[in-house]
Amino acid sequence: MASEQRPAKTEVTPVDSTGLYAKQAAMCKEKGWPHFAPSRCYCCGRDVYSHPETAAEVNAGGLVTGCRWCYRSFCDQRFSSYSRARQRAPAGQAG
Ligand SMILES: [Zn+2]
Repeated sequence: MASEQRPAKTEVTPVDSTGLYAKQAAMCKEKGWPHFAPSRCYCCGRDVYSHPETAAEVNAGGLVTGCRWCYRSFCDQRFSSYSRARQRAPAGQAG
């Protein structure tokens, strides 16, 4: 067996997540979205919003549905009702 030599994983540098949880919470409240992501991932224990991609998503007005650190989805339990609600509401509003 050849020895397994994997290249080092690309380290993602956490960003400052101050205010992002509140921002997501406020946005979900405003849009009637379910607020899936806790501030701290219950799976890996990391700050969900400190992942640069998650932070970018929140800043872009998107919905965070999972932890990008461990790829855990937070919407597993509630996804069925959420997707049903989504189908009824047409996406995209003039603005
Ligand atoms: Zn996680």
